[in-house]
Amino acid sequence: MVEKKNIDWGSLGFAYQHTDYSYVSNYADGAWDEGSLTPDHTVQLSECAGLLHYCQEVFEGLKAYTQSNGDIVCFRPDLNASRMADSARRICMPEFPVERFVEAVKQVVKANAAWVPPYGSGATLYVRPFMFATGDVIGVKPADQYQFRILVTPVGPYYKGGVKPVKLQVSSYDRAAPHGTGNIKAGLNYAMSLYPSVEAHSKGYADNMFLDPETRSYVEESGGANIIFVADDGTLVVPQSFTDSILPSITRRSLVYVAENMLGMKVEQRPVRFDEIDQFVECGMCGTAAVISPVGEVDSADKKIIFKNGFETVGPVMAKLRQTLVDIQQGDIEAPEGWIYKIC
Ligand SMILES: *Cc1c(COP(=O)(O)O)cnc(C)c1O
Repeated sequence: MVEKKNIDWGSLGFAYQHTDYSYVSNYADGAWDEGSLTPDHTVQLSECAGLLHYCQEVFEGLKAYTQSNGDIVCFRPDLNASRMADSARRICMPEFPVERFVEAVKQVVKANAAWVPPYGSGATLYVRPFMFATGDVIGVKPADQYQFRILVTPVGPYYKGGVKPVKLQVSSYDRAAPHGTGNIKAGLNYAMSLYPSVEAHSKGYADNMFLDPETRSYVEESGGANIIFVADDGTLVVPQSFTDSILPSITRRSLVYVAENMLGMKVEQRPVRFDEIDQFVECGMCGTAAVISPVGEVDSADKKIIFKNGFETVGPVMAKLRQTLVDIQQGDIEAPEGWIYKIC
C-alpha cells in the first residue's frame, strides 16, 4: 500500500489540482510514439496549432476509486476508449488505440495511487483523457500532429448534503446541430452550451434540458448528462435522438443494463416527446460525475412540470438504480463481466 497524500478527502470540491504524473503520447508522421508518464503538467504549443484555430479536440471522463476490499479500480474504461476513438474519427483526428488507452489509464492511475481517495470518503480520482491537434494549420484542414494526454485530479463527493432533486429549464438554445457533433465528446459542444448553461444557473436552474434541434419537440439531454425518466408503471424510459445528437453516456448504457438484467425492470428506449413528460413520475440526469442526479422539476416558457415521486426527495426507482450502480462500482455487489478493471 502506498502512503496516501495528506488531503481532507471529504471536503474536496470539483476543482483541478495537479498530481504527481500525467500521461502523454504524441502523434507525428502517421504514428503514435510509445508514450510515457510525465511530471510536467503544462503543454507548450505552436501559435498555429490546429487546436487553437479549428477546434480539433476530444476528451473523456472517468473515475478511479478504492473498493471496499482496498483494490483501486476503474469502471468500463474500454467504453471510454472506444467512444474517444469514435469522437476522434468524426473530427478527422487519428484514433488512439483502445488497448493503449486502457493501458495508459492503468499506468497513470497506478503512478498516482497516493492520490486515489480511500474507500468510504465519497471522493474519487477523476481521470481526464484528451487529445488535441498540435500540428500547424492555417488553411482549413485536419492537422498532421496530435497529442494524447491523461490528467488525473482528486475530486470530492458529488453530493455533500445527500441527494436532492434539482430543477431544469428547457433551453431556448440548442446544444448541437441535427446530424452534427452532438453524439461525440468534443470540447466544441461544450463551448456551444456554456452560454445557455450560465444563463440557466443565473436563473436558479441546475442545468438545461435541450430539445431536439430539428423540431424542438423531443427531449434530448442536458449540457453534460443524459436524461432518463420513470413512467407510472415503473418502466424506465430512455430518450433516443432521431437527429443523432445525444451523447452515448456510459452511465446511461450501464443503467439500462442494470434495469433490464439485474432489477427486472421494463426499459423503453425511444424518442420521447416533450409534451408527454408530464406523464412521468421520476426524472434524472445521468453521467459519470453523479451517476444519477434526480430532477424534480422542469420549466419551459409555458409550463412547469413536477415529477410527483421525485420532487421533494429522490424517487424510489432512481434511488434503487443509482444505489445498484454505485454498489457495483464499489465492489459491494458483483459486477457484470468486464465492467470493473483492477489497477492495483
Ligand atoms: C460525458 C457526457 C455525458 C455523460 O456520459 P458518461 O459516459 O455517462 O459520463 C452525457 N452528455 C454529454 C453531453 C457528455 O459530454
